[in-house]
Amino acid sequence: MQETNNPGPLASDARVVIVGAGQAGGWAARTLRKEGFAGTITLVGDESWPPHERPPLSKSVLLGTAEPASTHLFPDADWAALDIGWMACRCARTLDRQARTLVLDDGTSLPWDRLILCTGGRSRTLIPKGMGENCEALRTINDALRLRERLQSARRLLVIGGGWIGLEVAATARELGLEVTLVEAGDRLCARSLPENVSTWLLELHRRQGVRVMLNTAVSSASKQPDGSVDVRLSPALDAGSTLAVDLVVAGIGMIANDELASAAGLECAGGIVVDASCRTSDPDIFAAGDVAVSPNSWMGCSGRLESWQNAQEQGIAAALSAMGRAVVHDPIPWFWSDQFGVNLQIQGVICDADQVVTRGAVGTPGDDLRLIHFYLREGRIRGVVGLNAAKDVRASKKLIATGASPDAAALADASIPLNKMS
Ligand code: FAD
Ligand code: NAP
Repeated sequence: MQETNNPGPLASDARVVIVGAGQAGGWAARTLRKEGFAGTITLVGDESWPPHERPPLSKSVLLGTAEPASTHLFPDADWAALDIGWMACRCARTLDRQARTLVLDDGTSLPWDRLILCTGGRSRTLIPKGMGENCEALRTINDALRLRERLQSARRLLVIGGGWIGLEVAATARELGLEVTLVEAGDRLCARSLPENVSTWLLELHRRQGVRVMLNTAVSSASKQPDGSVDVRLSPALDAGSTLAVDLVVAGIGMIANDELASAAGLECAGGIVVDASCRTSDPDIFAAGDVAVSPNSWMGCSGRLESWQNAQEQGIAAALSAMGRAVVHDPIPWFWSDQFGVNLQIQGVICDADQVVTRGAVGTPGDDLRLIHFYLREGRIRGVVGLNAAKDVRASKKLIATGASPDAAALADASIPLNKMS
């Protein structure tokens, strides 16, 4: 990542264009206006929905207990009052950095003084032939509405991928009464984001709830049957090479960053748009935020994409402030959550380099008043936590992580000693 010069304060008659009307783009637009920028703000989004967030799409919206409007970031009246030039159903096709213009799919050319790229990601779709229209992915509101309808008429579901999408869809489908099989190519669930002890706990939770989970397994081929179902061959094969008959397949096999617009314009990209801690790209007048951004993170000790609700909101805000010429350092302690079978799981900080794990609470089942937090320590200092139905403890742990606290392990394990009394 090259050092970029601060582009300086933004003139009050300047034009800011934001690409992507998801969570990061929505927060960037709102922040510009709320922080007093009086110039033109244009938000280009290729979806028809106003800026929204995605977590309910695999949970309440998919279950049918909430509607898409519940995902909108801002009440309609507040959004209208911000006076943002929102261009819905428009895709940005070409970025001309010399001319400082952005050309849309309908030929519109938008001039900009500062540009903020919040283009997020799309579902990876490496699905064997033969599944055809029986295979769904889940990223957008439209995906969720289509999948929700299909889950109503399906009886047998195959989920490919034991990551967050796969597990949340599996849990929701079980709640809806479907037979669910989940195949994961790796040897444990959420291997990149969870420590082994929590992967194992999650595996047991899903199996107890009736999900047939198969690790070290991938789909090798599939063929559509005359009755509309699909026969799936797995690798390694099921007993005696038999096939698995399902009505519907959902693939949750990862995300690809939408960085093509940026890379075609010569911006530095590496599996996403490379930015510095001020959200600046290799062009000092262009910023990026959210799932598409590859940013440095001092807690992780490396650069990478933080694909989470927290990062989308906070980095969207930081990118807007930076575009206004304010000094900004975006370096969050990573935090995200998942809800499955009534369990709220939260991960905060760094958990991959621990040399000691201390547990507060008892490993139980959701019905047994489960409330548990694992602390991940390195050289005596708390680096990260994973909480199961322990939101309050996870919140209290943030300060301990931020200050590099090194409390006595016995005290940490003792639920009668408040976390906010530790250092
Ligand atoms: P996006 O939300 O992907 O928005 C990017 C927008 O830009 C999209 O609308 C896209 O269509 C548009 N776009 C792309 N290219 C162009 C272009 N050229 N022109 C115009 N528009 C363009 N995180 C958690 O922490 N907890 C959770 O429980 C959780 N649940 C999730 C559930 C689901 C189903 C999904 C998909 C994600 C979930 N996440 C969760 C992750 C979180 O939602 C994402 O990290 C967040 O949405 C990223 O926001 P974003 O604005 O960067 O990208
Ligand atoms: P993910 O978390 O990266 O998980 C994908 C999983 O599928 C990985 O375990 C991956 O293994 C596995 N896999 C890949 N190819 C496979 C194959 N051919 N067969 C079987 N398994 C395969 O991605 P995701 O679950 O698809 O989620 C997409 C995005 O939505 C991410 O940004 C995610 O953070 C976000 N999301 C977040 C939440 C949440 O935070 N609660 C909920 C839903 C979605 P490898 O790791 O070995 O590749």
